[in-house]
Amino acid sequence: MMHEDAIVIVGAGLAGARASVELREAGYANRIVLIGGEAHAPYDRPPLSKAVLAGQKTIGECALFAEGVFAQHAIDVQLDRRVVEIDRSAHRVVLDDGSTVSYRKLLIATGAEPRQLAVNGALKAGVMTLRTADDARSLAARLSPGQRLAIVGGGFIGLEVAASACGMGCDVTVIEEGQRVLMRAVPPAIAARIEARHRAAGVRFRFAAQVAEIAGRGAAREVCLADGERIPCDTVVIGIGAAPRTALACAAGLEIAHDTKGIAVDERLATSDPDIFAAGDVTSFPHPLYGARIRLECWKNAEDQARVAARNMTGAEIRYQAVPWFWSDQYELSIQIAGLPQFGVEQVVRETADALLLFHLRADGALAAASGVGTGAVGRDVRIAQMLIERGVRVDAGDLADPSVRLKSLLAAVPA
Ligand code: FAD
Ligand code: NAP
Repeated sequence: MMHEDAIVIVGAGLAGARASVELREAGYANRIVLIGGEAHAPYDRPPLSKAVLAGQKTIGECALFAEGVFAQHAIDVQLDRRVVEIDRSAHRVVLDDGSTVSYRKLLIATGAEPRQLAVNGALKAGVMTLRTADDARSLAARLSPGQRLAIVGGGFIGLEVAASACGMGCDVTVIEEGQRVLMRAVPPAIAARIEARHRAAGVRFRFAAQVAEIAGRGAAREVCLADGERIPCDTVVIGIGAAPRTALACAAGLEIAHDTKGIAVDERLATSDPDIFAAGDVTSFPHPLYGARIRLECWKNAEDQARVAARNMTGAEIRYQAVPWFWSDQYELSIQIAGLPQFGVEQVVRETADALLLFHLRADGALAAASGVGTGAVGRDVRIAQMLIERGVRVDAGDLADPSVRLKSLLAAVPA
């Protein structure tokens, strides 16, 4: 059966699911088909490495939408089904059972997948990655007092898992190739605070360390490093980054950005085919604030892009220009970053009783980014900084550094 007017969405993660609902909220009345490769109803990933591992939340409680929402919106949700081909000339997608679904517009929201560690023993029992609800369930079942956990990668996955596992009484070692934790996205001073908190909880670190092999009869029992050290373990978590899932787009001949490796979209989130849009972790998009093409792997970006892509697929002309923002919760600490710190040329430090805040200034005095770690008001402060970035406000470095100056008062200043 042909559905010439259907909008089809590939990927039922945050971006795909949010876009499907947004289409209805935007008044789109024709058929919407949401196709997802996982068997679970669309769910939120952030709790997987935090509350789910800590036994405070079930997978069911991570659902993105209340039961019945997709039915109420007449969204045809097809779970546990994979799209294996995009046939652009026929305007249809091919599913893994050979069936096809025709589209007028298509949204690719296929997200990212964990990078695999290419060493001997990486496929042994007890070696795992964490991306899906099923992964979280398997890992949670292994976290109990005295269990020895070796975590490869001191990024977000590695450190959030370390914090949750410590809370469950596990013995944790983090093995990182770089010289410090959170090398990719977090400034050194913030990362140092986080590392100190992990050490205080008993986490051990090995930096500049390379995994040579994972040894053990059948199951993983030791992580062997290139320098000869052997780290005994019961479970190994690999958290060495994620790769955008671009295989479908690539095979369909859509443009892929050579630097960020994501699907290249324009500022409206349209791909090189005007009838195909992309949103979330998989996209490489031009950011007007930074004058660069970037790819982000964070919740807020997937959520915001989904809304913009949905509206643009129904004829709107919205430019995507949200200021990047993400958080990570570890122990009682929250890390929050708004904007892109690497675009700052000067750093201003604001220290309060419960937080360390860094402001990353551009040459013209406007804020490129703000990052913070702490408890209490760190989220509020970074949110205000996000507004300062959005408005292009030129800020006084002295005011930023002085904790007695309320950040909110700076919002009244003039744009740079
Ligand atoms: P995904 O969530 O990856 O969803 C893509 C979906 O598409 C998947 O379900 C996949 O199965 C499906 N799919 C792929 N290919 C096909 C196909 N061919 N056919 C059908 N379906 C397909 N971000 C933060 O900002 N803060 C956090 O604290 C945070 N915590 C996180 C914790 C964990 C454990 C993880 C894994 C991520 C976390 N993130 C966090 C990142 C955030 O969850 C992601 O940025 C977000 O999920 C991206 O959404 P997405 O829809 O683009 O992709
Ligand atoms: P990540 O944050 O990129 O961190 C991976 C870390 O592992 C990097 O420091 C990386 O160094 C290092 N590494 C790479 N290869 C290694 C190796 N062979 N041995 C040891 N270390 C190695 O990625 P992630 O933590 O795996 O997270 C995966 C995805 O989940 C990302 O999309 C992430 O954004 C998302 N996530 C987000 C949050 C959050 O925002 N709070 C929480 C959890 C997960 P290099 O940088 O040098 O490669």
